[in-house]
Amino acid sequence: MPLRLQTTSGLCLVRDLLRRNSPFGFSLYPSKAKMSKAVPARRLEGLDKNIWVEFASLAATYKAVNLGQGFPNFPPPDFVREALVEVVGGNDTSIHQYTQAFGHPRLVAILARFFGKLFGRDLNPRTNVLVTVGAYEALFCCFQAFVDEGDEVIIIEPFFDCYELMVKMAGGIPVFIPLRVNADKSGKLSSSRDWQLDLAELEAKFTQRTKAIVLNSPNNPLGKVFSKVEMEAIAAVCVKHDVVCFSDEVYEWLVYDGNEHVRIGSLPGMWDRTVTIGSAGKSFSATGWKVGWALGPDHLLKHLRTVHQNSVYHCGTAPQEAVARVLEKEFERFGTPQSYFFQLPQQLQRKRDFLIQSLEAVGMKPIVPEGSYFLTADLSTFKVELPGLPDSEEPYDSRFAKWMIKNKGLAAIPVSAFYSPPQKKNFDHFIRFCFAKEDSTLKAAGDILQQWSQKEPSQ
Ligand code: PMP
Ligand code: GLN
Repeated sequence: MPLRLQTTSGLCLVRDLLRRNSPFGFSLYPSKAKMSKAVPARRLEGLDKNIWVEFASLAATYKAVNLGQGFPNFPPPDFVREALVEVVGGNDTSIHQYTQAFGHPRLVAILARFFGKLFGRDLNPRTNVLVTVGAYEALFCCFQAFVDEGDEVIIIEPFFDCYELMVKMAGGIPVFIPLRVNADKSGKLSSSRDWQLDLAELEAKFTQRTKAIVLNSPNNPLGKVFSKVEMEAIAAVCVKHDVVCFSDEVYEWLVYDGNEHVRIGSLPGMWDRTVTIGSAGKSFSATGWKVGWALGPDHLLKHLRTVHQNSVYHCGTAPQEAVARVLEKEFERFGTPQSYFFQLPQQLQRKRDFLIQSLEAVGMKPIVPEGSYFLTADLSTFKVELPGLPDSEEPYDSRFAKWMIKNKGLAAIPVSAFYSPPQKKNFDHFIRFCFAKEDSTLKAAGDILQQWSQKEPSQ
């Protein structure tokens, strides 16, 4: 029997000591499991659940029309697919081998040229650019590079779920600030613009321990595009409190209705404290390629390089070469109607509007996104009596989304998954749909909704 102490943490400590440091060369702790050393590292505590794993599997099991996880089910444009085919099928066999650790030379060169133009500054391909395994790895490198035990990181809610988990994995403390909802006089929430940052509240979140803030515009899940005025205000607090900004801009090309994407790293005083994160997967509708990047000043990126070289080391060569060729083409036609960055938002805006109509027709209230490929629907007037205890710990939207997959064959993501634990109950009546889907998929979703409302007209 291990020593008994009063507290659970005390017990764990003794158990760990006995397991790991037994003076006899074998564990004194009688374990039922064969592998008594397989105790997970403390940094994994509480991080085992993942909304994407859960909902992707549910959607597949029930063969649902899947507007859940955010990826296009239409193909990337021909020039993108052809680039990869040419790269892999060409005579240059070195493309099948390792390349430069911090980014394939041709890719970092065009990223530096392209974004140098957008930021209005010269970028060095070797020091201001890091190629990563999707934007995910860029985010992971940011948190691992800068967040120490007890450091605070400000996260604006609702937020892409991995920010919270990655901050915790680095030993940091996420500090949340919810966007405040400004409904119109009739109580109607019609646009992602109705979710606003209270700047006084934001400023109050900054403490001596604040190390960084995460910004995501266009935002996942709401599709909010932060305005220049909002960005300038955030920038001013970052400068005042000497805080680093991780700016997740994976949906940078997906802005609608004449909205403008502002790069916070281009605002005065911000370049030196900002890591800007992008994704070829999102930019070119090829999420499976998992090519992403981080851009920023050398004094920040050098620490991301340390994480990268000691974890991933380098990313697949062929997709990098293909993304380089595709970006070179985009660079030539940038700002013209031939540019994919011009065509994609137009195509998506039509899809967004189609989904809005389908949702409105059945009484789910769409919150029109200014950007991204997600649309949040308000369920408050579309309540369905769901099986399960009324005082269930699981938020209503989560139960609703699971029920919808199983009973209606339609998948969406509960928005409470994008909130911190204390806020989940306050935002438990929204679900997020991804509209980057074939027209036939969106029509199939619309048909399900139509049939549903005809069968249950009381909703
Ligand atoms: N940031 C946001 C806001 C996202 O929605 C996603 C989802 N793909 C990512 C980062 C990760 O992007 P990638 O697929 O390039 O890893
Ligand atoms: N970013 C996408 C979404 O929000 C995909 C998430 C993921 O693959 N983990 O749906």
